[in-house]
Amino acid sequence: MEKTLIIFKPDCMQKKHVGTVLARFESAGFEIIACKMLQLTPALLRQHYSHIADKPFYPGLEQFMGSAPVIAMALRGDNAIARVREMLGATDSRKAAPGTIRATFGVDNQVNILHASDSVENGLAEIARFFKSEEVFA
Ligand code: ADP
Repeated sequence: MEKTLIIFKPDCMQKKHVGTVLARFESAGFEIIACKMLQLTPALLRQHYSHIADKPFYPGLEQFMGSAPVIAMALRGDNAIARVREMLGATDSRKAAPGTIRATFGVDNQVNILHASDSVENGLAEIARFFKSEEVFA
């Protein structure tokens, strides 16, 4: 069993795709172990996206991710990191495999519906960043 952090990004919230996207994960057998709605601050985003904070597109990304409230969730399931990333599709929605969440609902390489952790280690670190231990029901 692995744990992953997903974030329903502002575009997912505004286009009302949260239920549809979450249904895919529940149908695939993943279990929700933590959930909260929040508005992402520049400080939190800088931590969360520290691996790309020096990229030229980062200011635009920070603006987009902080533009509306989001829902952060921790999911648990077999091989969760790879399986959730596979269901999500490539970062650029235009290049994501047909049928994936990003190919179906995303717009481009920034406006792409959902964040999902990319390693077991990052999953645990990201869950700890967004949730206190008593908020995680695992
Ligand atoms: P992923 O979300 O697929 O793990 P990254 O960690 O590389 O991808 O990037 C984090 C987020 O930054 C992406 O989901 C996307 O919203 C944004 N992003 C990545 N690359 C670009 C880019 N070239 N231009 C604009 N936004 C980008």
